[in-house]
Amino acid sequence: MANDVIEALRAAVGAAHCLTGDAIEDRYLHDWMVKTPPGRPLAVVRPADTAQVSAVLRACHAARVPVVPQGGRTGLAGGALPAPDCVVLCLERLDAIEEIDPAAATMTVGAGVPLETIQQAAQGAGFLFPLDLGARGSCRIGGNLSTNAGGNRVLRYGMARDLVLGLEAVLMDGTVLSGMNKMLKNNTGYDLKQLFIGSEGTLGVITRAVLRLFPQPRSRCTALCALTDYDAVVRLLNHVRAGLGPHLAAFELMWPDFYQLVTSSLPALSTPLPHGHGAYVLLESMGTDPQADQARFEAVLGEALMSGVVENVVIAQSEAHVASLWSIRDASGELQRIFWPHAGYDVSIPTGELGGFIQACTRAVKKQWPGARTVFFGHVGDSNIHIGVKVDEEPFPEPDIDRTVYGLVRDWGGSVSAEHGIGVLKRPYLGFSRSAAELAAMRALKAALDPLGLLNPGKVLPEPEG
Ligand SMILES: Cc1cc2nc3c(=O)[nH]c(=O)nc-3n(C[C@H](O)[C@H](O)[C@H](O)COP(=O)(O)OP(=O)(O)OC[C@H]3O[C@@H](n4cnc5c(N)ncnc54)[C@H](O)[C@@H]3O)c2cc1C
Repeated sequence: MANDVIEALRAAVGAAHCLTGDAIEDRYLHDWMVKTPPGRPLAVVRPADTAQVSAVLRACHAARVPVVPQGGRTGLAGGALPAPDCVVLCLERLDAIEEIDPAAATMTVGAGVPLETIQQAAQGAGFLFPLDLGARGSCRIGGNLSTNAGGNRVLRYGMARDLVLGLEAVLMDGTVLSGMNKMLKNNTGYDLKQLFIGSEGTLGVITRAVLRLFPQPRSRCTALCALTDYDAVVRLLNHVRAGLGPHLAAFELMWPDFYQLVTSSLPALSTPLPHGHGAYVLLESMGTDPQADQARFEAVLGEALMSGVVENVVIAQSEAHVASLWSIRDASGELQRIFWPHAGYDVSIPTGELGGFIQACTRAVKKQWPGARTVFFGHVGDSNIHIGVKVDEEPFPEPDIDRTVYGLVRDWGGSVSAEHGIGVLKRPYLGFSRSAAELAAMRALKAALDPLGLLNPGKVLPEPEG
């Protein structure tokens, strides 16, 4: 049977792009987060277009072989990990930028185009594609859409799902759903594309997309603020929302534990504001008039300083200064080096309650592990906080820390995954943020589109209880 499928796959994509046995390179066997996959794939296939993707899925469907889609494998929830004896469907050869349409302000792309390539192509055409995240050079747009990626500019431009007008996806039985719509308004029945965005490759395989482009900003104003506490952070958020309006592009919180850790452990970082404040916020506006925008930005922050909402502020005076302020926030990428071993979390809590949650979480962790250290930082303008919990215990008690943190997220009415998805890692906790009725509706959707349960099995949906 396995030989028949392999033959069908070779016929579908060509022998050179159907890898089996020792020819399967190590990179296809794990993702960024999980280095030990649950099983070895039967084959890795690398189709070149939608027709080949459809042929691969048809062959696997006929033979009842599970399929795991892969983009750039930078996911942080283990969603792209191969299942035992599956076929890994790697989308990296669907890497064409098919069209930039200036009138519609759209770009039509294949699912395998790296995010950074899309950003550069948009810039070259005088536009901005605003989705941006640390993995931009390696992640692929199909992966970004499948995980509904967030990143640094959600406050202004929305999540990945807000940046798509049209989508092409292939169902497990090989059916191609091509909805390559370019129109901003199109209320013709169910918005099928949204089913495939954020469902982490469990409902269909994304092959092409029509992306929204935006005017290239001409100004960028950046500041680092020090505040007394989280109440002041919320007051500042409201103040800059009112004062900067749609120009507000980033509002990033760094809790003192994070600011202190990164600025004292990484010699390359400056410490633009002293340690000891109750909270630090990096904020940014983007506009179209450099002089007027800078004046307005400074006036709005001047008011915040005068009224005591912020205690201290540094406003970037050059591109190099902007980069040095952002490098403090981006030092979260160094936590694996300077704050190890730790358990990491990406959760959402309603913005007004985040300060209380941070205190409750710190208390709960320290009660259980008195020597534990925590760091909190994140896209607080989007209700999204990242948490690191370091416990010096052997073996590292990750499952216990998970239960403590996710239990609190449930109690505070939050989301166990703000932007990284569920994959395999958060699957046991999906029910902490979704009701039984919601889980049942998700299972009904899965059964309708993939009745044999072959597409990315073991991801997202927990096993039904009982
Ligand atoms: C340094 C770093 C920084 C990051 N920062 C952020 C951040 O700020 N915000 C954020 O949201 N994420 C972030 N991530 C997580 C990750 O980059 C995103 O989840 C990204 O969108 C995944 O894209 P990928 O191509 O690597 O997908 P993969 O990891 O290959 O796959 C992710 C999921 O999508 C499915 N999939 C992939 N391609 C397709 C397709 N064409 N059709 C159907 N299903 C598919 C896979 O099966 C899997 O379930 C970061 C990761 C790293 C390593």
